[in-house]
Amino acid sequence: MSFTLAIVGRPNVGKSTLFNRLVGKRLALVDDQPGVTRDLREGEARLGDLRFTVIDTAGLEEANDDSLQGRMRRLTERAVDIADFCLFMIDARAGVTSTDRMFAEILRKKSAHVLLAANKGEGRAADDGVMEAYELGLGEPLRLSAEHGEGMGDLLAELIPLVDDFESKNKVIEPEVDVTLEDDEDAEEVYVAPTKSKPLQIAVVGRPNAGKSTLINKILGEDRLLTGPEAGITRDAISLQMEWGETPVRIFDTAGMRKKAKVQEKLEKLSVGDGLRAVKFAEVVVVLLDAAIPFEQQDLRIADLAEREGRAVVVAVNKWDIEDEKQEKLKELKESFTRLLPQLRGAPLITVSAKTGRGLERLREAVLRAHEIWNRRVTTAQLNRWLTSMIEAHPPPAPGGRRIKLRYATQVKTRPPAFVVMCSLPEKLPTSYSRYLVNGLREDFDMPGTPIRLTMRSQS
Ligand code: GDP
Ligand code: GDP
Repeated sequence: MSFTLAIVGRPNVGKSTLFNRLVGKRLALVDDQPGVTRDLREGEARLGDLRFTVIDTAGLEEANDDSLQGRMRRLTERAVDIADFCLFMIDARAGVTSTDRMFAEILRKKSAHVLLAANKGEGRAADDGVMEAYELGLGEPLRLSAEHGEGMGDLLAELIPLVDDFESKNKVIEPEVDVTLEDDEDAEEVYVAPTKSKPLQIAVVGRPNAGKSTLINKILGEDRLLTGPEAGITRDAISLQMEWGETPVRIFDTAGMRKKAKVQEKLEKLSVGDGLRAVKFAEVVVVLLDAAIPFEQQDLRIADLAEREGRAVVVAVNKWDIEDEKQEKLKELKESFTRLLPQLRGAPLITVSAKTGRGLERLREAVLRAHEIWNRRVTTAQLNRWLTSMIEAHPPPAPGGRRIKLRYATQVKTRPPAFVVMCSLPEKLPTSYSRYLVNGLREDFDMPGTPIRLTMRSQS
């Protein structure tokens, strides 16, 4: 059971600094210039024994028109809607401003659980501001220094009772994923579709300019990830929870935009690691290619990494709208795919246009199916019938006159599917035979495109 905390407040009060401290990795970028951080960002936070999701919001602004500020304010309101708790931050050294007051009003109405924090609370210069914060009517202000790490214990102490209360009201039963060798053969295997509390985790990876942000925005159907002319903004490994069609998903995006010269260098440094991190978080990895330059070295590396990490992979070829010779091109793409990424045999290749939205429904279906396959469980009874027929079709070799015996197969894990075959002389079994078995599993149990792990084990 986990909860979500949104950090809100006007620009420059220290929200990103707190976010960074809670998340512990330098996922977010901090800048002195107000309003640099304009996206909703999420990270996995740790505080004491608590693990939760933290959302760092856009700055709150009074502007209510369709300007960037108005949009930012709407985004913030959304964050408050998504979050279970909200931490409203003011700058204690600046004192309470009229903007703070106006938003305190909104938050009082909107969010059931608001924690008030007076940041930059280190030193005497903050004393007056902390006192003023009481007048916001949001209870006792928590004196923090996000920069110096002061007040974190108090924050924890305030959160614990809220969380206990929240958990007792929101009990969910987590589905079992792993089973032991002695699993019940007759057990009905049900695929647990993604839910709001367990959204399908997707990473969208690909070269800069492949269209990752455009794609995510299109799925999101709103301007939560601000792109476009005003977009010189920070982008790093962030995740966003949303509904894609009917499916609750959490999408991890990686640094894609490099428009702001100032943060260019920091972004470049972050981006490689972020791609890897996004893959590790994900269940399904969407490798987004640019139709004009598909299967570049970088694309191949990340696809291979995703396979090695045991993730389900879907390849999407973007910018299909500007492709003239579609049929010819598709043939070429499929050939390159088979040749360059044999380890992803059978993985779907979907052509899309992030710009127009074409193909996105097919992409969604492919992602869901990949996720379902990745979670697939084959009963031991089915497996052993299958193993017998595989052996009959092609008996294992008999090195030195002693035939290797395959006795028994079982699935030990899902996500990705992993199997063990009990076998005499496992070290003598050629890899070509293991490959024969893996391909057989893939075909006979209809598991294209998902990594399949197979271990041969001796009985003793
Ligand atoms: P945001 O716009 O609300 O996300 O604010 P930032 O996290 O970007 O912080 C704005 C500025 O305030 C940065 O220069 C931070 O270094 C500074 N800052 C953040 N927290 C503290 C703090 O606890 N004490 C002091 N003195 N400065 C802080
Ligand atoms: P990112 O770096 O991967 O996040 O890429 P962006 O989403 O910023 O897109 C890079 C550029 O490609 C932008 O100019 C987009 O407008 C453009 N683009 C993205 N998707 C498409 C598409 O499907 N068709 C066309 N024609 N252009 C696209």
